[in-house]
Amino acid sequence: MARVYNFSAGPSVLPLPVLQKAQADLVEYKDSGQSVMEMSHRSKNFEAIIADTEARLRRVLAIPANYKVAFIQGGATLQFAMVPLNLMGTGQADYWVTGNFSGLAAKEAEKFGKVNIVASSAEANFTYIPNPADVPESPDASYVHICQNNTIFGTRFTQLPKTKAPLVADLSSCILSEPIDVSQYGVIYFGVQKNVAPAGMAVAIIREDLLGNAPANTPALLNYKTIVDADSMYNTPPTWCIYMMGLTLQWIEEEIGGLANMQKLNQEKAAVLYDYLDSQSFYKAPVQKEFRSLMNVTFTAPTKELDAAFCEGAAKEGLVNIKGHRLVGGMRASIYNAMPKAGVTALVAYMQKFAAQNGG
Ligand SMILES: *Cc1c(COP(=O)(O)O)cnc(C)c1O
Repeated sequence: MARVYNFSAGPSVLPLPVLQKAQADLVEYKDSGQSVMEMSHRSKNFEAIIADTEARLRRVLAIPANYKVAFIQGGATLQFAMVPLNLMGTGQADYWVTGNFSGLAAKEAEKFGKVNIVASSAEANFTYIPNPADVPESPDASYVHICQNNTIFGTRFTQLPKTKAPLVADLSSCILSEPIDVSQYGVIYFGVQKNVAPAGMAVAIIREDLLGNAPANTPALLNYKTIVDADSMYNTPPTWCIYMMGLTLQWIEEEIGGLANMQKLNQEKAAVLYDYLDSQSFYKAPVQKEFRSLMNVTFTAPTKELDAAFCEGAAKEGLVNIKGHRLVGGMRASIYNAMPKAGVTALVAYMQKFAAQNGG
């Protein structure tokens, strides 16, 4: 076996014990004679899997009883539409634009009503998060939308805005990386392919009182209430993603010991990389220190040619998928939950070597 250190932003690295358990279950799950991928979603085995996955998510995130969980196909991008469709009762909502995905979310929401861009860090190429104290809230906003960790630019919110309207947050690239207080949000959603499972599903965690406000002509599968009322079984749910998510949650509970420990590991890993970046002058890290993401670390070499050479050389050492997004350039190391500390240490060793070889 020759597994590499995979710094992909998504789909991304999964915990090895999760892959190994999935491999063992692949041909026959328990004594069912079938794979999870083959079994009816109405079977006893699968009903237990989906119930267990939701129960684990509720435990790990300490989700209060008045929040519902929905497993939904279509990724986080479909949530950019489902949020306004289900929640924009007043015909308008506030959006913070702090990166690419929050911009896309705002653009999609414009199809459903008035979008107030109340904050933006576009003028500084999204290298910081605006201070909540400086951001107004529109009196008639149905909700306030943020993207809590900006996957492409490598920033994250360090404090949540205190809003009158429900806070709706895209946590695709930071979910399960640290404890959160679910009661601060109206809706949390995330695509699972960054930190949780293979691609193919989003999860929405919705405060109960926000359900049931979609227009009457809303397609059944775009209405949170339809999905929640059917326990995510209105139609065939993405069974493989749900099963894999259950395994990842089991890994967090039983091997990591919960989100407080997960956060500690993530802080240690990110510190290895950021401490190195701060100790030298060959590489530049564009993000303002206070807003540095624990999950996506962006940096550049002195020239575009050196960026390309860096990535090529890294791949030869088994450090793959480290090229930055085209909007930022340079490099991006995504160091999600499943990236071991040894992967980050290996990356820093390579960075030191590359800098020394190139006049750093
Ligand atoms: C990856 C990502 C998305 C897009 O997710 P899809 O599942 O591809 O639709 C949206 N928001 C954030 C923060 C992301 O990281």
